[in-house]
Amino acid sequence: MMQIFIPLNFLGFVYREMKGALANIEKMFALLAVEPAVSDNPDARELEVRSGRIDFEEVHFGYREDREILRGVSFSVAPRQKVAIVGASGAGKSTLFKLLFRFYDVSDGRILIDGRDIREVDQQSLRRAIGVVPQDAVLFNQSILENVRYGRANASDEEVMEAIRHAQLDDFIRQLPEGADTLVGERGLKLSGGEKQRVAIARALLKRPPIMVFDEATSSLDSRSERGILAAMGEIAREQTTLVIAHRLSTVVDADVILVMDRGRIVERGAHGELLARDGHYAALWRMQQQEHSAEALPSAVSSV
Ligand code: ATP
Repeated sequence: MMQIFIPLNFLGFVYREMKGALANIEKMFALLAVEPAVSDNPDARELEVRSGRIDFEEVHFGYREDREILRGVSFSVAPRQKVAIVGASGAGKSTLFKLLFRFYDVSDGRILIDGRDIREVDQQSLRRAIGVVPQDAVLFNQSILENVRYGRANASDEEVMEAIRHAQLDDFIRQLPEGADTLVGERGLKLSGGEKQRVAIARALLKRPPIMVFDEATSSLDSRSERGILAAMGEIAREQTTLVIAHRLSTVVDADVILVMDRGRIVERGAHGELLARDGHYAALWRMQQQEHSAEALPSAVSSV
């Protein structure tokens, strides 16, 4: 019975995790169950990621033919770089992620991972190579330890505990009645948004895929949670190529490159200091955020401007 139950449970987890990560994924999976939106090329090969470089080359895309959402997007992420994507709501940030997973094919241009066009690789191997930290991680009515273990089912308790430490959850766990064995989820202890996101980070650290996409939670966090998440993200970014949809200033500041999107195009790119010196779109965004920050004492979402 357990043998049947675990895979179903796991499938449910994957489905819900994705749903948390990407908008409209639910609809898309329903679609995929009937008729896959994209299929493997007959001579598709396993994607072997050696360095984790990503290239978007003149990518055009629309969900419908009459409305182009991405209008010629080009950027490169070098291995182990951290790239933050910012921009107004609807600019196309999540769409970039969906295309990287190849939930849809580009209508023009190419997306390459380590120089391989993702349309030529086996989709399972593509998705294995990319980890997701969704905005709102799903927790099951199990212990924290088991919740983190979903990152890699065969990980030892020591490996799970190490991921928990790196995700800055250990202080939190120490205060719990039964430590890492404390039950969480709907019928257990409720975790805050920041704690949940750190569980997702711990799962991702356990999985250690070469490429990590991180959809930062839009909700405001207390400064302790914020520091914890930043430190945990730093752990991921040290070894993995990281793409972040960033909503908080603190995340953007240390990125190697910030891509500023507006209506399907990248309108500015560079490191935080360079973009401030350019005094353009990003600098205006930054000033507005600073004002909000001092008004509210907590940073709010970049995407809300
Ligand atoms: P936000 O910060 O609000 O999440 P975003 O920059 O991530 O926004 P996207 O989610 O990429 O923006 O959406 C870009 C545009 O594509 C929006 O106009 C959105 O309405 C549209 N869009 C997104 N998903 C779909 C879909 N499945 N079908 C049709 N249109 C879609």
